[in-house]
Amino acid sequence: PRRRHDAQAKAAPVASARTGTGDAVADLREAILGKLAFVVGKTPATARERDWFAATALALRDRIVEACMAGEQAIPNKRVYYLSLEFLIGRLLSDAMNNLGLVETTRAALRDLGIALDTVEGAEPDAALGNGGLGRLAACFMESMASLSIPAIGYGIRYDHGLFRQSLEDGWQREAPETWLAEGNPWEFVRPEATYAIGFGGSVTLSAVSEGVIRRHWQPAETVLAVAHDVPVVGWRGRHVNTLRLWKAEAEAPIELAQFNGGDHIGAVANRARAEAISRVLYPSDSSTAGQELRLRQEYFFTSASLQDLIRRHVAERGDVRSLQDHAAIQLNDTHPAIAVPELMRLLLEEHHLSWEDAWHVTTNTLNYTNHTLLPEALETWPVELMERLLPRHMQIIYLINWMHLEEQGKHGRHDAAHLAAVSLIDESHGRRVRMGHLAFHGARRVNGVSALHTDLMRSTVFKDLHALDPDKIVNKTNGITFRRWLHNANPDLTRLAVEALGEGVLDDPTALRGLEVFAEDGAFVKSYAAMRRGRKEALAGIVADRTGIDIDPTALFDVQIKRIHEYKRQLLNVIETVALYQAIKAEPHKDWTPRVKIFGGKAAPSYTQAKLIIKLACDVAKAVNDDPEVAGRLKVVFLPNYSVSLAEAIIPAADLSEQISTAGMEASGTGNMKFALNGALTVGTLDGANIEISEHVGLDNIFIFGLDAAGVQARMAEPNFARDAIWASPRLAAALDMIASGRFSPEEPNRFRPLTDDLRHRDQYLLTVDFDDYWRAQRAIDAAWTNPAAWWRKAILNTARMGWFSSDRSMREYAEEIWRVKVA
Ligand code: PLP
Repeated sequence: PRRRHDAQAKAAPVASARTGTGDAVADLREAILGKLAFVVGKTPATARERDWFAATALALRDRIVEACMAGEQAIPNKRVYYLSLEFLIGRLLSDAMNNLGLVETTRAALRDLGIALDTVEGAEPDAALGNGGLGRLAACFMESMASLSIPAIGYGIRYDHGLFRQSLEDGWQREAPETWLAEGNPWEFVRPEATYAIGFGGSVTLSAVSEGVIRRHWQPAETVLAVAHDVPVVGWRGRHVNTLRLWKAEAEAPIELAQFNGGDHIGAVANRARAEAISRVLYPSDSSTAGQELRLRQEYFFTSASLQDLIRRHVAERGDVRSLQDHAAIQLNDTHPAIAVPELMRLLLEEHHLSWEDAWHVTTNTLNYTNHTLLPEALETWPVELMERLLPRHMQIIYLINWMHLEEQGKHGRHDAAHLAAVSLIDESHGRRVRMGHLAFHGARRVNGVSALHTDLMRSTVFKDLHALDPDKIVNKTNGITFRRWLHNANPDLTRLAVEALGEGVLDDPTALRGLEVFAEDGAFVKSYAAMRRGRKEALAGIVADRTGIDIDPTALFDVQIKRIHEYKRQLLNVIETVALYQAIKAEPHKDWTPRVKIFGGKAAPSYTQAKLIIKLACDVAKAVNDDPEVAGRLKVVFLPNYSVSLAEAIIPAADLSEQISTAGMEASGTGNMKFALNGALTVGTLDGANIEISEHVGLDNIFIFGLDAAGVQARMAEPNFARDAIWASPRLAAALDMIASGRFSPEEPNRFRPLTDDLRHRDQYLLTVDFDDYWRAQRAIDAAWTNPAAWWRKAILNTARMGWFSSDRSMREYAEEIWRVKVA
C-alpha cells in the first residue's frame, strides 16, 4: 500500500499524544469498534465498507471535536464569513487524518481489524456541492483558513443532490442524480437551534416607528426555514478547527393536517415540497447563469440565513450591531450572494433600527466581493419584475441605493446619460434587469479578481466606469490550492520524496519546496521522482482500464485535459490537434513518434448542447484512433467519465502534460493548472489567467507557452474573416476539420459534427483556428522534449520546486491582511 507521511502534530496535544504509538493505534481501533457497534449498529462480521467508513469518520470526528475544544479560547476579535453557493469538497476522511497526523495510526488500527484503509477511503462519497473551480476554491480556502488559524465560518447550502453523475452512453453524456446523503453524513452536526425564517414575496407596508421616521416593513407571503448543518474543518496539525455551516430548507409546517384529513394527501405536503426544493439540488451550470426563479430563491435563502446568523452571533457577543464591521469580514464568492447588499441593509434598518446612513456605513465596511469571470454570459442579472415579485423590499432598497449612487455622480458633474447608464445598478438595455456585479461592487469595501491578468481586465473592461469612481477598491488576489490535499494526500510518494530531501519543515512551509531545485539534476533523486510518476501512471492506467476498458501504456506521455467542458476552455482545440496528429502519424507511420495518451475528463452543463457535442467528438475520435492498428503504440485517446475531486486526485499526479489552453483573457485564473504544475506535470498553455504567473514562477524554459495573448485576441477578433483566413493559411488545420466534417468519425451520421466545424469556419468566437498552428508547434516541441528524459525530469522537478507561492495559504494571508484586516499568526 502507498504510505503516507504522518504529520507530527507539534502544537496539538490531542493529536500528538495519539500519533504513531502502539497505544494510539489501540485507542483508535477501540474507538472505531465502538462507533461501529453503538452508532452504526453493526458488528465487524456484518459491516460493509460503507459502515467501516462511517465508524472511522465518527471516531476521527471525535478527535476533531477534542482538538476544537482544546483550542477553544476567547471570542476572536474578528471572524471571516465566507459566503459561497458552492463548496466542491470531495472526500473528507484523508483530509481529517492527514491534518490530525493520524494517517498511519488509522491505517494500523484498521489493519488490526482486517480492513484496508484504501477501501474505507474509497467508500466515502464525494461531497460535490459545486461545479468546478469556484466551488473547489471555496473548499481550499476553508482548509487554509483552518490551517492558518483564521477564525472563519463558511456558509453555503446543504444540497441533497450535488453535481450530477456523468456517464457516457456511446459517447453521449448522460446525467444521473448524485446521492451523497443516501446513507447520511457522519461528518455533520445538525443544529436545529440555529434555524432562521426566510421570507419570499408578499408586500411592503409603511409604519411610523420612532422619532417621526417613516419605516417600511416587509410582510412576506411565504416563509421557509433554514436549518444549520455544521461540518467541522480541521486545519493542519489539528491546531485549529473552523465550521462549514450548510443550510437545509424546511417548511414551517411539515404537513397541512386539515387538508390531509380532508383526503388531499398530495396537496397536504405541497408546501413542504416547495420549501424543500430550495436545497434539493445544485444548479449544474458553470460559467453561465441559470437565470431561473429557483436559483434566486437559493441565493436569497442562504444569504439571508447566513447574515441573520452572523448578526445574531455578533449581537450576542458584542451587544451592538453597529460594531459589526470591526468584528466581521464577509466575503461574497462571486455574485451569487450579492443580494447580501440589500439584505444586510434591510436587517440593519428594520430589525436593528439603524438609520440609512449608519446601515450603509456598516454594510460597505463589512462586505467584500470576489469576481470570478468576465464572460458576458456569466454575469448575473435578474429581471426587475422577478425581484419585485420575489423580494419586493429588496428591490426598493436597491432602487434607493441606486438613486443615491446616481445622485452622487451628479454632484461630481457626471450628468451624461452614457456614464449614468454604465454605472447604474439597473441595466435598461435588455428589459430592466438588476446587475448583480454592479450591486456587489457598489456595496463592497474591496472587490478582487483572482489572477493578475484577470484583475487588470476587470479594471479595464467590465468594471471600468465603477473603477474610475473608486480606484482603490479593486485589488488582486491570485487563487491558490491547498497543498495538504493536492500534494500530501493526492501524492504521498512525492511528499515523501520532498520530506526525505528537505525535512519535515516542507510540510509546514510550501515555499520550502524550492529546496528541490538542487535535486533537479541529482541522479538518485531524479530516479526516485521518475519512479514515483511511473507508479502513479500505472495506478491511473488501472483506473482507465477499469472504467473504459481501454489499455494505456504507462511509458507513453500522459497528456491530460480535465476540467468543465466549455468552449472557452477549448477542449475542441485539443481534439482537433489529436485528429491532426492522427493524420500525421498515418501519413508517416515509420517516423519515430513520441507515444502519447490523450486523456480527457469533464462534465458539460446538461443544457449546453455544443459542449456535449465536443464530448461526443472526443469519444468518437477516441474510438477511431484506438481501433486503428496503424497508430497503435503511438496514440491513444481516452475520455474518463464522471470527473470529480477524487478522480482529479488520482489523475493529476499521473500527468506528464497539463493542458491549460483557454482563449487568452477568458479564464479568470484556473486552479487545475496549479495542481498539475505542483505535481510536476509540464504545462502547455496560453498566456491566460494564472498561467502567466505560473510561467513567471517556474520559468519560461519549464513551460510550453503558445498562442495569442489577451490583447492579441482582442485585436484579431476585430478582423473580419479571421477564422476563414486562419484555416486557409493552415493546410493541417483545414485537413483535420475536413476529416471531422466529412463524417469520418461518425459514419452512421456524417453531419453529426457540422455544428462544431461550421461554427469554427464562420464564427470561432474562441479563436481556435487562429491559435491552432502555434499549438501544434508547441506540441511537437513537447514531443521532442520527451525524448530527453533527463531534461524532462529536470523541468518537472523545477515545476514542483517553484510552485510554493500557489499555496492557498498565501492567498488567505493576502485576503486576511489586505481585505479582511485580520491578523494571521
Ligand atoms: N473540478 C475539479 C474537481 C477540480 O479539482 C478543479 C481544479 O482545480 C476544477 C474543476 C477546476 O479546474 P480548472 O481550473 O482547470 O478549470
